[in-house]
Amino acid sequence: MYFPSWLSQLYKGLSRPIRRTTQPIWGSLYRSLVQSPQRRNPEFNSFAVRTNTCGELRSSHLGQEVTLCGWIQYRRQNTFLVLRDFHGLVQVVIPQDESAASVKKILCEAPVESVVRVSGTVISRPAGQENPKMPTGEIEIKVKTAELLNACKKLPFEIKDFMKKTEALRLQYRYLDLRSFQMQYNLRLRSQMVMKMREYLCNLHGFVDIETPTLFKRTPGGAKEFLVPSREPGKFYSLPQSPQQFKQLLMVGGLDRYFQVARCYRDEGSRPDRQPEFTQIDIEMSFVDQTGIQSLIEGLLQYSWPNDKDPVVVPFPTVTFTEALATYGTDKPDTRFGMKIIDISDVFRNTEIGFLQDALSKPHGTVKAICIPEGAKYLKRRDIESIRKFAADHFNQEILPVFLNANRNWNSPVANFIMESQRLELIRLMDTQEEDVVLLTAGEHNKACSLLGKLRLECADLLETRGMVLRDPTLFSFLWVVDFPLFLPKEENPRELESAHHPFTAPHPSDIHLLYTEPQKARSQHYDLVLNGNEIGGGSIRIHNAELQHYILATLLKEDVKMLSHLLQALDYGAPPHGGIALGLDRLICLVTGSPSIRDVIAFPKSFRGHDLMSNAPDSIPPEELKPYHIRVSWPTDSKAERAH
Ligand code: ASP
Repeated sequence: MYFPSWLSQLYKGLSRPIRRTTQPIWGSLYRSLVQSPQRRNPEFNSFAVRTNTCGELRSSHLGQEVTLCGWIQYRRQNTFLVLRDFHGLVQVVIPQDESAASVKKILCEAPVESVVRVSGTVISRPAGQENPKMPTGEIEIKVKTAELLNACKKLPFEIKDFMKKTEALRLQYRYLDLRSFQMQYNLRLRSQMVMKMREYLCNLHGFVDIETPTLFKRTPGGAKEFLVPSREPGKFYSLPQSPQQFKQLLMVGGLDRYFQVARCYRDEGSRPDRQPEFTQIDIEMSFVDQTGIQSLIEGLLQYSWPNDKDPVVVPFPTVTFTEALATYGTDKPDTRFGMKIIDISDVFRNTEIGFLQDALSKPHGTVKAICIPEGAKYLKRRDIESIRKFAADHFNQEILPVFLNANRNWNSPVANFIMESQRLELIRLMDTQEEDVVLLTAGEHNKACSLLGKLRLECADLLETRGMVLRDPTLFSFLWVVDFPLFLPKEENPRELESAHHPFTAPHPSDIHLLYTEPQKARSQHYDLVLNGNEIGGGSIRIHNAELQHYILATLLKEDVKMLSHLLQALDYGAPPHGGIALGLDRLICLVTGSPSIRDVIAFPKSFRGHDLMSNAPDSIPPEELKPYHIRVSWPTDSKAERAH
């Protein structure tokens, strides 16, 4: 069985020497914080009853007496046993001689996945029996003593990674699922990256790791929050969506470089890449501007990036929100591939094609297109049909597919209406090749871009399922998106405004005047970090002027300022200029490890519906236990069955 030697790769990073900060602030305290000895590989066997890990033994250990603890991975004909721990696999020879009958009995009778301790000698495998696919494949253990530490009952599923199991079953028996190579790798890599982030922030750049409360009060705007009842009638705590207010208050308190591995809570229902509780690398600093925060994060990711991946190249490219929308139809573009949106309005000014004519006659009408490389080869007729249906159903938009066949003859239903000059201009603008397909739509700018942005991703997935390699799986494409609007129209009432990021975000310095005239046009100092089409972080320079903050909250956002009076008050006591960012740790690690879901990088995640399938949370509480909180459940009429549980 192939077992990569991933662990040593993972730990190599730790031996990197720590650079000393040259300007100590507080003499000896500061020096003692930064002068840690040069790191070594961790000692995996200290304080334990084993001498070695299963995965570390090599020919260099020949002749050594070792004691190993691990789980029985499998047994072959009562002669060999493969023992596993987090570090790897090792072959153990079951003794056959009479004098070792009791050892043989233990090792032959213990069910697979039982945990045992064995002691014996490291010997080389007989010639020809080495296993080059196994890092320990040159040696085996000649056992002298064995002890069954705990037997394993019949398993609900096999631990071996190649055995497929449903996610519900994995979550129900998470402690068993965690034994798999993939989960071990994901959680250990996560721990490594967080360790390096701490090192970079605290030891190299003087950040202070500060915990903020999780029992807090409601925050206006933003995501739905979880409530925690208190013993005071009708009073509730809220679990914070993020430590946003606290980190700003820390700046007022002079803790001018804060960071925290922060647990955040959002009651957002089921979304594929979200969890009701999740972790952020939360950062705030004073006396900084947008470029300062961006450089800090680039350095942080570069420093903490796993050694078994290509190094992170900095600085990351930047696009404005407006450019991102126009070119990729989204504010989180996947820049690993092209297929950009192109405005081809000018090509069709004199068109005879009805829906294009119609769109262009309107004030903000445009014609836009994307080019699907080798689409004629990879896309089927039914794909095009479902693309058109998607556009009609979700965007009320028409899509015109334009094919080029091998002879460069138009092979599309409306080909007859496209003039030769238009055809040539289209080929020039879109840079099409013979086998490409152009998807064309017309309408208002944002709507046309959003639709094509969705189709760009759909088609990329489709091309890849058909065998085209469009996105290099080893590529990590970071991108800053900047100059977001400060406000967006509220979805439920477009005449009212809501913050695009959060209400503490400062306006762009050149747009402050717009707040008093056309606030919907003001840009902000909000920046998002995108990786391979996923938002992995976001932050902003904050408002540190109480009057401006009050105006935005009360007048523009129509929020109840009483809820934030502590923050407004604090800004009035010499709050320094400040800004920050939060990185979504789960999503980042999910992308780094190439996992299909963020649940694969969290030890005990909630299910898609927000349940803990192992312990059955959330659970019901007997009415008498609710009494101290002055709460009574009002059961929905159709939930009798639920109550019975
Ligand atoms: N608190 C923000 C968030 O959770 C991030 C920030 O502005 O620093 O999205």
